[in-house]
Amino acid sequence: MLNIVLFGPPGAGKGTQSERLIEKYDLVHLSTGDIFRANIKGETELGQLAKSYMDKGQLVPDSLTIDLLKSEVIKHNEPKGFIFDGFPRTNNQASALDQLLDSMGTSIKMMLSLDVGEDELKKRLLKRAEVSGRADDANPSIIENRIAVYKRETAPVKSYYADQNKFFGIDGMGSVDDITKRLFDSIDAN
Ligand code: AMP
Repeated sequence: MLNIVLFGPPGAGKGTQSERLIEKYDLVHLSTGDIFRANIKGETELGQLAKSYMDKGQLVPDSLTIDLLKSEVIKHNEPKGFIFDGFPRTNNQASALDQLLDSMGTSIKMMLSLDVGEDELKKRLLKRAEVSGRADDANPSIIENRIAVYKRETAPVKSYYADQNKFFGIDGMGSVDDITKRLFDSIDAN
């Protein structure tokens, strides 16, 4: 299986690039953010709980997020692989993911980490807010908090994968097509 963690700060282009990767490599796309938003829309209990964190730009607690991710992964019967988008966001989540995949006889092949400058991230998120309707994209102070949370709690996950020689940094600046090409090249070379 080709299991990829597509990593990067909010606004790095993980969702956009995931769509291209799933098409080319026939993978299942799992975005915890998308799943939480679907639960909010469906007015589930989980959605209500997640919303209280998401609205502030905080991380949803690990236990809830890990259980949710597990329940999604096991829904798929013999996929060619998964793209994990927006997960793992903590070292705890990363080790839970390793355990889950191990129990399925598979593992993460690589973490592709999109590098984008902070000013560009803020610009992209505000632009996305115009079409996404996401409250957490529209408010500059929530954006600041999401970036701060990324630096403090999520960026350390890079070392988790670097320690396993699975970390690949990708320049996330430039056109969407250019970035896609860098991702394809990195996957095909490894
Ligand atoms: P995203 O769509 O990836 O930008 O995620 C939107 C929000 O959902 C985040 O700001 C968090 O509040 C929550 N979220 C998504 N994925 C995770 C995760 N793996 N761990 C904790 N919270 C998450």
